[in-house]
Amino acid sequence: MTDSTELLTFARLPAELLHAVKLAPLPVHLRELFARLPECLQLDAELGGEPGSWPLSARQLVKLALLSDQLRLVAARVVDTPGVRLKVFRGDRAWTPSHEALCRDIGSVVQGVLGELLTPDEAGALLGDFAFLSSNLATLATITRHMLRSTNEDQALHVLLSGITSGYSLGFNRAALFVWDEAAGRFAGSKGIGPLDEAEAHRIWEAIELEDRGIEQLILDYDSRHCDTRFQQLVREVTLAPEPGDEVFDALGADRPLLVRRAAPINPGLWCLDVRDEWVLAALRPHGRLLGFILADNRHNRAPVSANQLGQLSFFIDQTSLVWENLALLRRVEELARVDGLTGMLNRRELEVRLAHELARCRRHGRPCSLLIADIDYFKQVNDTRGHEAGDEVLRQVGRLFTEAVRADDVVGRYGGDEFVVVLPEAGAHQLRACAARVGALAAARGISLSAGGATWPMDCEDPATLLGCADRLLYEAKRLGRGRACLTDQEPVLFDAAPEA
Ligand code: GH3
Ligand code: MG
Repeated sequence: MTDSTELLTFARLPAELLHAVKLAPLPVHLRELFARLPECLQLDAELGGEPGSWPLSARQLVKLALLSDQLRLVAARVVDTPGVRLKVFRGDRAWTPSHEALCRDIGSVVQGVLGELLTPDEAGALLGDFAFLSSNLATLATITRHMLRSTNEDQALHVLLSGITSGYSLGFNRAALFVWDEAAGRFAGSKGIGPLDEAEAHRIWEAIELEDRGIEQLILDYDSRHCDTRFQQLVREVTLAPEPGDEVFDALGADRPLLVRRAAPINPGLWCLDVRDEWVLAALRPHGRLLGFILADNRHNRAPVSANQLGQLSFFIDQTSLVWENLALLRRVEELARVDGLTGMLNRRELEVRLAHELARCRRHGRPCSLLIADIDYFKQVNDTRGHEAGDEVLRQVGRLFTEAVRADDVVGRYGGDEFVVVLPEAGAHQLRACAARVGALAAARGISLSAGGATWPMDCEDPATLLGCADRLLYEAKRLGRGRACLTDQEPVLFDAAPEA
């Protein structure tokens, strides 16, 4: 190697030196630390002999200059004298680590750099930054753990908002969540955490200070139903429709949370939430699929949103929206398992589960329970003469009229094929008869003929498990007697071409 007084930059360093520098393993947090330095530091290096013989920390420090914008290699000299001499400086202050210092680990070397070249205030701010980061990571871990543990989507979303508002985490005054309604092309208000006005904000802060409420307690609030606050009620009344030129539209186009600074919002939905001066909007879009929208602000203490807070919110939303997506998929799968795809009514499996549940409940309370099963007459002919599509539409139509004809507490579903079932908890023979008449007349008015069978536990069958079979036998009887009617035990059949009975 020739002695050279020429000043070199990385681009002109001999290839073997550069190679040795690049091979030095560098802890990733040091890059993060240097990225947060208030000002760029400079490195002056004198490099001699075999790079393999240099202390590891020396190669790591030079690599840091290669990778970080906040430590710049301003001069390098390649010399014949073996060894490496480094000088880090900032303006007229410089620090030259001794050979012994460079033989320690890179953490101690960086401590030396920061101790010599940063003011105590700057070092304090850097420490604050890292404390914020690490406490947020701990909270994020807690939040993700709670969200993953929850099989209830609503509860998981409450946990998400708790993370945004908790003083232990991102510490926003208020956070609101909106759920995307694909059909309507807008977001519907779903949940809100935070005070409605400043008086409430003061009460809440006092409680937080007095009780020292941690993130775990905020999460537990969901279970104790503390979460139905006035702000939550307000959020539920608000919808956000994105319009070109407004903040919601802009936030949807951004790939990270959008900090809006403006005296008052353009979007009318944000107006309703009394958003002012500065607020953050973020779309939740796991795997590119839009699920929801978050509003966070410091409406009450008016603290400016820091770059750290914004960066952390972005990270936080990326993580938690993945958990939300999983829960939403789980809910969808559960829904598909419960619901009949054609009519949107409960399917046979779910009907049987609900029937068993209602029978057990009625039994406990010493109340009767009735069941009606109905089948469309000559339905095959609809398929044969008007086609399968028309047949499907008739099934949907019958599904709608069943839903229309029953009481709020009744359980109604498609049992299979052209058969429908209504479970009438706490209803006796009289109510069963009225229900059968309503359903039959509604169908007849649409030109659809039904046959039905109905029975009541315990009057018509001793064993609750036989209620469905009992009603099914009466349906068969209605078919046998000429269709267009409901057969109920020990009573005259209800003929469906007649007006419904009271
Ligand atoms: P009955 O008066 O004796 O009940 O005569 P029916 O023609 O209605 O006979 P049945 O109830 O036994 O037949 C039900 C028919 O419903 C058979 C099947 O082709 C048709 N079906 C079952 N599921 C569907 C469906 O999802 N869509 C359509 N379009 N038809 C269906
Ligand atoms: Mg039929």
